Amino acid sequence: MNMGDKMECIFCKIVNGEIPSYIVYEDEIVKAFLDVNPDVNGHTLIVPKKHYKDLFDIDNDTLIHIMEIAKKIDKLLKDKLNTDGLTLVQNNGLKQEVKHFHLHLKPGYKNEGKLLPVEEIYKKINE
Ligand code: 5GP
Ligand code: ZN
Repeated sequence: MNMGDKMECIFCKIVNGEIPSYIVYEDEIVKAFLDVNPDVNGHTLIVPKKHYKDLFDIDNDTLIHIMEIAKKIDKLLKDKLNTDGLTLVQNNGLKQEVKHFHLHLKPGYKNEGKLLPVEEIYKKINE
């Protein structure tokens, strides 16, 4: 990897706090935060703190950890936002806008309301 790639990486900047984010979960391996342009209320991204480009770059132990955290965050979203389902999306190559591995968590709702500001969703999650 070119060091320049990492220095310019928007998700590395979110990981180190240079760019603010609405943090949903954090540990020593990952940071999870609300997507700035959500498809659905509660749309969350899980990123490894270490810069891996994509599915073909990331190691399996980190991947498994990310899946475990996805389950934990699903519980949180069920509890705080009354979600009723979850779609996982992970883009690579041409399909990927940000070239730092991330897993999209897009919850579903029995009765989907209108899209609320991300800040409002963050408040609900932290109530
Ligand atoms: P991709 O197409 O790479 O899988 O999706 C990248 C996602 O990152 C998009 O859903 C986009 O809204 C989100 N995103 C891009 N820049 C930022 C940012 O600065 N902050 C947050 N929270 N999300 C971002
Ligand atoms: Zn990065």
